[in-house]
Amino acid sequence: MLPVVALVGRPNVGKSTLFNRLTRSRDALVADFPGLTRDRHYGEGRVGEKPFIVVDTGGFEPIKTEGIVKEMTNQAQLAVEESDIIFFLVDGRSGLIPQDQRIAQSLRESGKPTYLVVNKAEGMSEVVKSEFYELALGEPYPISAAHGEGVRALVDMALEKY
Ligand code: GDP
Ligand code: MG
Repeated sequence: MLPVVALVGRPNVGKSTLFNRLTRSRDALVADFPGLTRDRHYGEGRVGEKPFIVVDTGGFEPIKTEGIVKEMTNQAQLAVEESDIIFFLVDGRSGLIPQDQRIAQSLRESGKPTYLVVNKAEGMSEVVKSEFYELALGEPYPISAAHGEGVRALVDMALEKY
């Protein structure tokens, strides 16, 4: 079985852009419209030396169920459960928001190996990382999915054990 990497995070952080970068495909929907990728979406990882499967999740829009706002839909929850590794994306340009905190909480509870990925970090100093330590998910990894910066290093590190 190939390791499965799930891309999770709130809408518009760059999950689909990273999916396309990792799979070297163009078939994930990338747009300025938050949450356009509605369903789970699988592809073959083609970055680095080891094969892997990557899952784009679009299901982290807040949804209202029985009066409570649920941050993680069943689709996204399932993607997390069936994955070996989580790339949790946050946005280095908009910074940390409460929705990130709530998703981080779910991911900590999942117990899955989670890498905290600070996307859109092109041209930014390392300082961009600092506010994300608060998520208690360890060291933040700045990348630029759009420009490809830091992506190979992230994959190599995450797949080191495989
Ligand atoms: P998703 O909703 O998480 O799947 O996010 P998308 O991949 O659709 O990207 C949302 C927006 O962020 C789009 O306008 C992307 O072009 C932009 N974006 C994605 N990655 C980067 C990046 O590394 N740098 C910058 N500046 N913008 C990015
Ligand atoms: Mg998307």
